Amino acid sequence: MVDQVETLYLIASFLFILGLRGLTAAHTARRGLILAELGMVFAIWGTVIHPDIMAHLEIAGFFQTYKWILLTFFIGSAIGIAISALIPMTRMPERIALSHAFGGLAAALVGVSEYYREQVIAGHMDHTTMGAIGFEVLFGGLTFTGSLMAFGKLSGLIPGRNITWPLQNQSNILMFGGTFVLLIAVTIDPSNQILFYAMAAMPLLLGILFVAPIGGADMPVVITLLNSYAGLAASATGFALDNNVLIIAGAIDGASGFILSVVMSKAMNRSFRNVLFGAFGKVDEEDEAMVAAGGERVQEASVGDAAMLLSGAGSVIVCPGYGMAVAQAQHVVGELAEILEANGTQVRYAIHPVAGRMPGHMNVLLAEAKIPYTSLMELEEINEDFKHTDVALVVGANDVVNPAAKHNPASSIYGMPVLNADLARSCIVLKRSMRPGFAGIENELFFAPNTVLTFGDAKDTLTKVVEALS
Ligand code: NDP
Repeated sequence: MVDQVETLYLIASFLFILGLRGLTAAHTARRGLILAELGMVFAIWGTVIHPDIMAHLEIAGFFQTYKWILLTFFIGSAIGIAISALIPMTRMPERIALSHAFGGLAAALVGVSEYYREQVIAGHMDHTTMGAIGFEVLFGGLTFTGSLMAFGKLSGLIPGRNITWPLQNQSNILMFGGTFVLLIAVTIDPSNQILFYAMAAMPLLLGILFVAPIGGADMPVVITLLNSYAGLAASATGFALDNNVLIIAGAIDGASGFILSVVMSKAMNRSFRNVLFGAFGKVDEEDEAMVAAGGERVQEASVGDAAMLLSGAGSVIVCPGYGMAVAQAQHVVGELAEILEANGTQVRYAIHPVAGRMPGHMNVLLAEAKIPYTSLMELEEINEDFKHTDVALVVGANDVVNPAAKHNPASSIYGMPVLNADLARSCIVLKRSMRPGFAGIENELFFAPNTVLTFGDAKDTLTKVVEALS
């Protein structure tokens, strides 16, 4: 039976790796997901026929053995299906934060119950298992409350701005150090229950205190970092339970979450230190004015003006952003491109790595609208071409086309690589109002002399442009 379980775990781990490999390219992503799901089926299969469970099955029968497993399986599946069905694509970071919170909570609870079973009831726990359980509870608890904070901030349940207090970094680091000291102490003396429960409670507070000072604009990096913590907690659970698939899957999750955090920090030109301790990313909910701080005014363009600019263009670069996702405008963007291309216009798409609300958000939407991958250009590939382009069509993007990031050291997004939409001969911006984007700051692009704004829902505006052109 042990061999059978280990074989199933090996197949599951192999499928997880293949799944992750599939997720590296848009055209193989669906296959990757299916492989990873299949991996999960094998992992669950291996778990429900674990020798400990089978031994119980022989004594207690099917219902007594599997009743809790089946109940939690159905509750978990119902929550999973509800989350996937009810939370729209545009709220993906919140959904991911919630999933991490559940992952962290599960790891922490498994750790506490293992401690209770082995130390409190059976009265013997070796130091290595205690160390693994301590690690699991620490990172599980931190991930749980940290992810809930991230969820609250992103969904607006708690203020998205950075909440700061005097000596916050010093006190947070001190508390983290203190928790680690407790972890070492309880590893040396697992029988000290007070130490263990104090060590289990501290990370819950730490998760809140660590994420509170981080502003909304930095949440993507925080979420991916919490993903990495959830992986570490799962891996530690694997060591505590002597479960190979948890060790492997947790390590994959931990490493990939960490790499994604590095990639995203790079895309935003931020260091980890700055994200975690810089209290940056303030979100200002106030509306932008039609007049810039420097006195410049925005120039409005009607649908007809926008259509005319586009029909006369030899080359167009579409800069999609979060607003395209909100408006679900990707299909009509594709229709417009077809009309323009039939007219001899070259149409390409500039994809910013953090456009939208999740990595690859724009790629997924444009793939859904059957836009060929070959027309999708990464920021580095296309940024130099804007200056030779007739029209940059900004569809619901804001922060990722804000030129302040290039030259204004006072701007909170200074240093983040941005799309050079400002360098195109003309720039058409589609948005509904003068409200700011995710970072909550004014966008100089909207006040530039070569920029016009067509106000309205991007899908409505583009539908009218398509009608006007055809
Ligand atoms: P932004 O959030 O900066 O701007 C979105 C724009 O879309 C707003 O100006 C908004 O203006 C407009 N908009 C919203 N709804 C519509 C609609 N129906 N029709 C037309 N316009 C609309 O988005 P960007 O994509 O430019 O930048 C992404 C931001 O999100 C970055 O700051 C990034 O750091 C952050 N982020 C990225 C994540 C990722 O992994 N990609 C994850 C989480 C955050 P108005 O309301 O006036 O219409």
